[in-house]
Amino acid sequence: MLQLGDDNDAHRDDNRTMTDDTNGAQDGGASPFGAMKINFGGGPEAAPAGGALTPFGGISIISDGPDEVPAQPAGPIGYTGDPGRTETHVLIIGSGPAGLTAAIYAARANLQPIVLAGSTPGGQLMLTSDVENYPGFPDGIDGPELMAKMRAQAERFGSQVVDVDIDRVDFSARPFRVWARGTEYRGQSVIIATGASALWLNLESEQRLRGRGVSACATCDGFFFRNREIAVVGGGDSAMEEANFLTKFASKVHLLHRRDGFRASKIMIDRTYNHPKIEVHTNTEVAEVLGDAKVEGLRLRDTATGEERDLPMEGLFIAIGHKPNTDVFADWLDVDAKGYLVAHDHTRSRIDGVFIAGDVHDHRYRQAVTAAGDGCKAAIDAERWLESEGLAEHQTATTW
Ligand code: NAP
Repeated sequence: MLQLGDDNDAHRDDNRTMTDDTNGAQDGGASPFGAMKINFGGGPEAAPAGGALTPFGGISIISDGPDEVPAQPAGPIGYTGDPGRTETHVLIIGSGPAGLTAAIYAARANLQPIVLAGSTPGGQLMLTSDVENYPGFPDGIDGPELMAKMRAQAERFGSQVVDVDIDRVDFSARPFRVWARGTEYRGQSVIIATGASALWLNLESEQRLRGRGVSACATCDGFFFRNREIAVVGGGDSAMEEANFLTKFASKVHLLHRRDGFRASKIMIDRTYNHPKIEVHTNTEVAEVLGDAKVEGLRLRDTATGEERDLPMEGLFIAIGHKPNTDVFADWLDVDAKGYLVAHDHTRSRIDGVFIAGDVHDHRYRQAVTAAGDGCKAAIDAERWLESEGLAEHQTATTW
């Protein structure tokens, strides 16, 4: 993977590389978490095609063939310990804190869940270098390490985790059916915990230079911009927070916002305007990211006059919000105006037996710990629902 900077990384004291939101290495190179002290283990057989390391390389990955595999006949679920199970009481979609916490609870309730983890498992924490607000880690913990621990904990109690993206679902009848890379999975209940993904400007030059100076994660990549001049795009709290955070590294931060009014809270706006290292540019959008192999500048457009100007710049952070990963569910479940799933009565969806947890419906808190709490609640709700349907016995002690 191309490294940032042309000074042979004199500013860096380890071999980390910038992230992109594929969570893995580009061009068959090293993992973006290359400097981390995680034993991902795994020989070459654990790596996906292209030779890139997977963040969970040492933990078994079940590979699905390209062909449609018929599901086992419906009927009473008899668990055999077969790691290729396709039928379960609780089918969990997503493997961030919500999905894996749901798996831990469901597994400990003897429901032997299957987790369809996505092809880039672990969720947004896989892009975070240092998690300092997750309880239990007084010295902080690297995001991928935290997710590897959650996954190991879920697997320890019998969860089967499969690193596949889902293609479509059919929630019209039970068992609910979900297809992923040609395999049909069936769940008497489903927990949706697919999270949300960072939005991009969708400029060709922005996409080409991702990981080469363009990033959507200041906490992951701020480190690479020590004493450099960089820009942040956005007018919400995320952009303000990232701009302020990046002043720890950068020599100067330009905040670029397309309007002259902000969505961010007043306290964050004031902090941003008052910061000596931040210059705010309103009515300003990025027309193009300049540079071939790395970011060298920005072509900025005045949204009021249309006038363009070029500004030398070494990095660009996009902080314009997130998109919930709900496309595949939109025909089945309620979504709000921003595309987030709507939960009713705690974690229930409008379909009995389908539950919702984490950032896929929560755009207010969006924290690992709240997502984990949601996953716990969804698993307990699923367990109680299965029990009420005569499909499982009550295992988890609760007081209602
Ligand atoms: P947000 O509030 O939706 O703001 C997104 C910003 O990006 C808006 O200013 C928007 O501009 C701009 N934008 C969107 N698409 C754009 C595009 N294509 N080109 C240029 N600009 C674009 O998102 P957020 O900042 O991620 O915050 C999401 C939620 O999390 C909010 O409720 C926020 O309060 C919360 N949050 C809280 C904290 C905190 O309290 N510490 C920190 C982070 C986030 P327009 O305004 O013109 O639409």
